[in-house]
Amino acid sequence: MPRIRVRLDAPRDRSYTVEIRPGILEEIPMLLSRSEGKRRMFVITDSNVIRYYGQALNGRLAAAGCEVSLLIVPAGERSKSSATLNGLYTRLFRGGIRRDSLVVALGGGVIGDLAGYVAATVLRGVRLVQIPTTLLAQVDSSVGGKVGIDHPAGKNLIGAFHQPSDVYIDPEVLTTLPDDEFRNGFAEVIKVAAALDAPFFARIERDAPRIRRENTALNAKIVETAVMLKTSVVEKDERETGLRRVLNLGHTIAHALESSGGFALRHGEAVAIGMAAEARIAADLGILSMPDCLRLTGLLEASGLPVKPPLSINEKAFMSAIALDKKSDVTGSRFVLLRRIGECAPGIPVPIDLIRKTMGLHSKKSTHG
Ligand code: ADP
Ligand code: ZN
Repeated sequence: MPRIRVRLDAPRDRSYTVEIRPGILEEIPMLLSRSEGKRRMFVITDSNVIRYYGQALNGRLAAAGCEVSLLIVPAGERSKSSATLNGLYTRLFRGGIRRDSLVVALGGGVIGDLAGYVAATVLRGVRLVQIPTTLLAQVDSSVGGKVGIDHPAGKNLIGAFHQPSDVYIDPEVLTTLPDDEFRNGFAEVIKVAAALDAPFFARIERDAPRIRRENTALNAKIVETAVMLKTSVVEKDERETGLRRVLNLGHTIAHALESSGGFALRHGEAVAIGMAAEARIAADLGILSMPDCLRLTGLLEASGLPVKPPLSINEKAFMSAIALDKKSDVTGSRFVLLRRIGECAPGIPVPIDLIRKTMGLHSKKSTHG
């Protein structure tokens, strides 16, 4: 059964394994007591996941003789805040956390980021186990070590790199995921396929009619390939100084849409619109062929994801968010663009007017002659 090794050995060994298997959730107490021994455990989860999987996991951990506390935060992005973070620190100190304790993140990307940041910072860092329960978290956020919270100035602005000591992925938990959350995560699957792996992209195109949250066997294969691709990138560029930027395909526009729209769009929807828009930009610049551009848009649409920019974009906020993008530098906006399905070209400068045109914004004409 799939065990993917993430090799990170410089400056010191922080390698870990990602285990992907339907039903693995039930084995986690046994696996954890084997790998973590008698460490005190703090399971952090949200108000939805607790009902589906949290109580059961907690019960099994206790039955396996683990000393375990359960910390529940409200479901939703709002929990990625300094207020929730502080509440968690307080509960950890009350619960007697020590340097050798373990934080277990059980939930979607919100919990992975928040609990991961708690683990990265409390007592200058404790061990972290990720058990991602959304498709987005399974294929994207739980692997790679990026953790953090939001700030009123923007999403994910406070954060750290903190690699987990293990990641356990159970594709069966996707069966209870709301359909829109499944689609949300699927945007990131299409992203890694389009950016890095043409045969995988073709397989998804072929399997598209059968891809549903209930199809655990197929989802297990998809998650496995997506994790392998992400792992291969993260291993070569842990801290996003170069290669890892390919994982930002579609994200320059996505982040600007999210922040200028008051975060009304889901991340996956924003990424889908961003990938479609950036593909049109790449086609306009002569970097990507029109047939490949249409293939990408077609797969996004077939997956139930949006591809057209929203009608009402706050133009000023959108354009300043593009300019503020973490990948921008003094020379202007640089995009990761597709060269063909399965291959990216990072760091391509994109003229501002082309961004406006693609997003259906009016280009600024000088009125002073
Ligand atoms: P994301 O993973 O997209 O970053 P969240 O962590 O907020 O987003 O998770 C999305 C929603 O799905 C939350 O309301 C969360 O409680 C819920 N959720 C997470 N995992 C499951 C699951 N396996 N089954 C049902 N609901 C889930
Ligand atoms: Zn993303």
